[in-house]
Amino acid sequence: MDMTWFEQMEARIPKGEVRTRFAPSPTGYMHVGNLRTALYTWLIARHNGGKFILRIEDTDQERYVEGAVDVIYRTMAQCGLDHDEGPDVGGPVGPYVQTERRGLYGKYAELLIEKGHAYRCFCEKQEETEGFEKIADPCRGLSREESDRRAAAGEPYVVRQRIPEEGSTTFHDEIFGDITVENSTLDDQVLIKRDGLPTYNFANVVDDHLMGITHVVRGSEYLSSSPKYNLLYEGFGWSIPAYVHCSPVMRDAHNKMSKRHGDPSYEDLIAQGYLTDAVVNYVALLGWSPGGEREIFTMREMAEIFDLKGISKSPAIFDIEKLKYFNAEYIRAMSPEAFAKAAEPFIRRAVKNPEIDPAAIAALLQQRTEVLTDIPEKLDFFDELPEYDTALYIHKKSKTDEAGSLEMLRKMLPIFEALPDWNDESILAAMTGMAEKCECKNAKVMWPVRIAAAGKAVTPGGAVEICRILGKDETLRRLRVGIEKLEKAVR
Ligand code: GLU
Repeated sequence: MDMTWFEQMEARIPKGEVRTRFAPSPTGYMHVGNLRTALYTWLIARHNGGKFILRIEDTDQERYVEGAVDVIYRTMAQCGLDHDEGPDVGGPVGPYVQTERRGLYGKYAELLIEKGHAYRCFCEKQEETEGFEKIADPCRGLSREESDRRAAAGEPYVVRQRIPEEGSTTFHDEIFGDITVENSTLDDQVLIKRDGLPTYNFANVVDDHLMGITHVVRGSEYLSSSPKYNLLYEGFGWSIPAYVHCSPVMRDAHNKMSKRHGDPSYEDLIAQGYLTDAVVNYVALLGWSPGGEREIFTMREMAEIFDLKGISKSPAIFDIEKLKYFNAEYIRAMSPEAFAKAAEPFIRRAVKNPEIDPAAIAALLQQRTEVLTDIPEKLDFFDELPEYDTALYIHKKSKTDEAGSLEMLRKMLPIFEALPDWNDESILAAMTGMAEKCECKNAKVMWPVRIAAAGKAVTPGGAVEICRILGKDETLRRLRVGIEKLEKAVR
């Protein structure tokens, strides 16, 4: 028996597994809230051994942004949000792209017209106007014959949803519970635009059905549209997915995070020196509580324990200080090699001298770095000795002052000069040997050496590490500069 096109499509719908999708519109960047939606969607699929689908919702051509799709692919790949399936049955894994499926939606709109839940609207200006105009639309009352005749004659039209005039629509949301709205408050939204492309609202429903989506996860800004989606499902006679609407991510108690107001997107955070793993971990906990005290989780660990019940109804506040804490934790947990690799570009922003090994500096930084972009300013003394005030040599705790420092540097210079090996052990032994000889604390030797070598008091690493990394010649040169400066100061 021949199947209709509709039956053929239905026959292809996968059943019996948890299927979720992330359905971003290509806006040019990945919002923190979007990333969180993607994560929860992925986590639900992976927790249940189901499928996770990526669908690009790009039917709004006016909002088209060059390169925006690449941002989505790149972010997903970096974050480890791998997706399953692709548009071709048995073909390669790849995203579904709505503009590539454009032929499909018109057919479904026709089907809905046939079923009486949509109608063609030929009105000139009402094309894409948002808002409430159900009563006002004269085309709602056109007979099918007249509508068909005018369409066949080539008159342009949009397809609108026919919302019942009376009654109410109830839908269930996993986070917000049952929500009921009066149908009289819903507008006959446009489903197919004059250019033949579907609106986001229509393509979204058709695709969720055709892709067999079981859980629709998205921002709570879509809560108010959901009754209209429900009426579409009902109009087609399709089963309704579980809705999971997530409250927004806020920048403070009153305002949503917004790129326009300068809040960072995912890419901004990475450019600011945050690690992907830390961002992903932190963002997952914005509005989802795994229960218990533990906060640091890998994606796999989260997938194991993920439970919708842990998603909060109240908005979450994005706290950059908290993200810093996560980032520092992740940095400390990295292998020294991995950290050196991540830190190298930031080290090289400040340290251009090719003789200096960035990995040696990285080792000094790892335990104390919160964000990679903090690195360059800490290293401003390696390439060039900064101008500094000899008052830096005065240090009560080390029991030293300018005169004492001058004396010590004069003593240390020949000892360093004579060192056959230049490494941590030999440098340290030279300084502790001097302290012993003078019967003073090590600090009284090390402080002036550090100031002379770095020209500043706060440095990553101490005198030993800085001298080692600078190398013998440069250290000696800087010690001589220090002696000269101090000679002038104490004169
Ligand atoms: N394309 C919509 C957006 O980017 C997604 C809404 C949904 O997931 O249903 O906001």
